[in-house]
Amino acid sequence: MTYVVTENCIKCKYMDCVEVCPVDCFYEGENMLVIHPDECIDCGVCEPECPAEAIKPDTEPGLEQWLKINADLAKSWPNITQKKDAPADAKSFDGQPGKYDKYFSANPGEGD
Ligand code: SF4
Ligand code: SF4
Repeated sequence: MTYVVTENCIKCKYMDCVEVCPVDCFYEGENMLVIHPDECIDCGVCEPECPAEAIKPDTEPGLEQWLKINADLAKSWPNITQKKDAPADAKSFDGQPGKYDKYFSANPGEGD
């Protein structure tokens, strides 16, 4: 099992999650973060830290698409271990439906 970053992270990217991960397994894209499923130790401490409630255990049904996105992009995006400022407009995107279709980007972020 692993924890997975899901749709509501897109364009919110608050990054509270990276500060608490004991194994530094978050990776940064342009618009969102992902968790490397082979590095995550399933401790669960990041889940309640996410203001956007975007982190879920992969035992929840219906997360297959997100598990694949996390696994694929964690291989090419840079590692991130320190919180940066969230995008200035993050709040206006929190909870918006259909963010994947409108805003998903496979481009990497900057990392640490
Ligand atoms: S805290 Fe949540 S919204 Fe912020 S980067 Fe982490 S997963 Fe994304
Ligand atoms: S569950 Fe634990 S190990 Fe996995 S990403 Fe969250 S904080 Fe890191």
